[in-house]
Amino acid sequence: MGNFILKLKEFMAGRNGIDKLSYGLLVIYCIFAAVKIFFRNSYWGYIIVTVLQYLVLGYIVFRILSRNLEKRYKENLKFEHMISGWMPYFNHMKLRITFFRTHRFRTCRNCGEFLRLKKSRGAREVTCPRCGKISKFHFIF
Ligand SMILES: [Zn+2]
Repeated sequence: MGNFILKLKEFMAGRNGIDKLSYGLLVIYCIFAAVKIFFRNSYWGYIIVTVLQYLVLGYIVFRILSRNLEKRYKENLKFEHMISGWMPYFNHMKLRITFFRTHRFRTCRNCGEFLRLKKSRGAREVTCPRCGKISKFHFIF
């Protein structure tokens, strides 16, 4: 087993490997897999989505094995720049899922700060830690 890992390391030396863009493409691959469910009655639709899926997969493998590090690095940088505007949204999503059982989330009406509040029902007054204004929230569940 150690020998295999060593050989893999030797093989991957000087190659791009897995970066953030690889993960992004993997998400696209999974989206295609989900889309395929809706195309299962359409012959050509199914084939086209499958081909697109394999193109994405091929591109992922190509990027991982590529020796043109500079070009791959630039692609990855472009991708990171593209999703940077979305990162707060993804992070909030993660928090919402993580604390689903114990907390509720709201945004401050004054400054837009993302607030994590202990779960409880009914009306509540919350003081924003950033701007200090009091916001009223009503929790149904
Ligand atoms: Zn605020």
